[in-house]
Amino acid sequence: MTADQRHKCMSRIRSKGTKPEMIVRRYLFSKGFRYRVNVKRLPGTPDIVLRKYLTVIFINGCFWHGHEECVIFKMPKSNVEFWERKINCNRERDLQKRIELRRLGWHTIVLWECQLKPKIRELTLQGLELTLNTIMLENYGKNKPYRSDNATEHLQVAEEKAGYGKSV
Ligand SMILES: [Zn+2]
Repeated sequence: MTADQRHKCMSRIRSKGTKPEMIVRRYLFSKGFRYRVNVKRLPGTPDIVLRKYLTVIFINGCFWHGHEECVIFKMPKSNVEFWERKINCNRERDLQKRIELRRLGWHTIVLWECQLKPKIRELTLQGLELTLNTIMLENYGKNKPYRSDNATEHLQVAEEKAGYGKSV
C-alpha cells in the first residue's frame, strides 16, 4: 500500500447517527448506561464511549468494514479489485485503531449492522449488556492497575458467550 493509498484509507467513512447506531444508543440509555458519542479524541472516533466501563463500541456497516462470514455482505461482481482494495484498507484501519485503543487501556466492542436486523436485534443487545456488565465486574474485581492485554482476552470470551460475532 502506498502512502497516498494509506492516507485515503485513513480518512473516515463512518457516517454519523445511522439507524443501527441509534438502535444501540436507545437501548443502552433505556438500561441506564450513560455514554458519549463520536468521541474524536480517541482512535477511530468510536461511535459510543462508556467511560465508566473503559469500553468503546463501534457499530460497523457490513459492506464498508468487510464483515467476514456475513449474511448480507457480498463483494460486488464488477470492479472487484477496486472494492477489495477499499474494503481491505478499511479492515486494516479498523484493526489498527483497535490496537491503539487497547494500548490506551480501552475495551473495544464491535457490533455489525447484520446483528442489528430485527430478527436477532434483541439477542445482540442483550449480549452487549451482558458483556458490559462482565467487563465492569472484571475491572472492579482487580485490585491492581488495569491491564489491557488481560482485558482483551476476557472480552473475546465474553463476546463468544454473548453470541454476537467474533472479535477482529
Ligand atoms: Zn454482517
